[in-house]
Amino acid sequence: MNWDDIATKGRILIVDDAMENVQILHQALQDEHDVLFAMNGEKALHIAQYQQPDLILLDAMMPGLDGYAVCAALRAARMTRDIPIIFVTALKTPEDETRALDAGAADFISKPVNAAVVRARVRTQLTVKRQSDALRELTLTDGLTGVANRRAFDERLQGEWRRCARAQMPISLIMVDIDQFKHFNDHYGHQAGDACLQQAGAAMRRAAMRPQDVVARYGGEEFAILLPQEDLAGAETVARKVLDEIAALKIAHERSSICPFITVSMGVASITPHGQVEPATLVKNADSLLYRAKAAGRNRYLTDGD
Ligand code: GH3
Ligand code: MG
Ligand code: MG
Repeated sequence: MNWDDIATKGRILIVDDAMENVQILHQALQDEHDVLFAMNGEKALHIAQYQQPDLILLDAMMPGLDGYAVCAALRAARMTRDIPIIFVTALKTPEDETRALDAGAADFISKPVNAAVVRARVRTQLTVKRQSDALRELTLTDGLTGVANRRAFDERLQGEWRRCARAQMPISLIMVDIDQFKHFNDHYGHQAGDACLQQAGAAMRRAAMRPQDVVARYGGEEFAILLPQEDLAGAETVARKVLDEIAALKIAHERSSICPFITVSMGVASITPHGQVEPATLVKNADSLLYRAKAAGRNRYLTDGD
């Protein structure tokens, strides 16, 4: 992959209360980037959240919310905290520069701006942003199946749990385990086993498709499907879809004592978080229901009500 090529096509938000400054920066960047602009701090925060720019060029001195306040607000919100910010300002003292960097700015450009300098600094920040996004993606993805890995699952569980606690909404979890997978590996070989895990992961993604749903490889041949803001009935619907999607794969499993094709067992649990329970309780409940689904004959799900 060529990072330089990627870095030339960013979405840049220019924030400045003076139209002529916006125009100068727009002029400098419009050939290489998609350019958005805001003429006050409030507008900037709104656009940053809803249009997700790759980079923000931020004027330090503005009436109302100034650049430092905008910077702090961007850093405080999950949706915007990773967007790099370059301060653009007429202030030139080392104290001004330090203050901008302390507020969370990635870089600092002095006014009057030079177009070539702006382009070069922007390109550098975009490259760094893309690289760190790609690295972060790698650290959160399971290498074999492409679904979320255990670390990503743990992070999302904590975050979604807090969100559901605040909103007093239910959060559901399906623990999924492939049936008699040891026999499958023994009979068809480890590579066929790996291919089966990949297909199973993709099937689960088709079953849990809302943007906030998380399909993760929990470990070995066990997957976890986290369904924020979904009650038990909704989670059951997803579990039924998982059974259907896995059945539709029709992956032969001659050594299975249940079915001539690959099947899964699932435990489905749901909680509306409150002060006394922890996320681990949800995992434990789903896990013990999964265990009971195995004992009850496999190729099925059991829920909290069963
Ligand atoms: P059960 O129906 O009770 O779940 O039986 P099982 O055989 O699926 O369960 P067990 O835990 O005994 O075996 C799990 C097997 O999953 C053991 C291992 O060979 C296989 N496995 C775990 N991770 C991987 C993997 O990354 N690739 C492959 N090919 N196999 C894996
Ligand atoms: Mg298994
Ligand atoms: Mg297992």
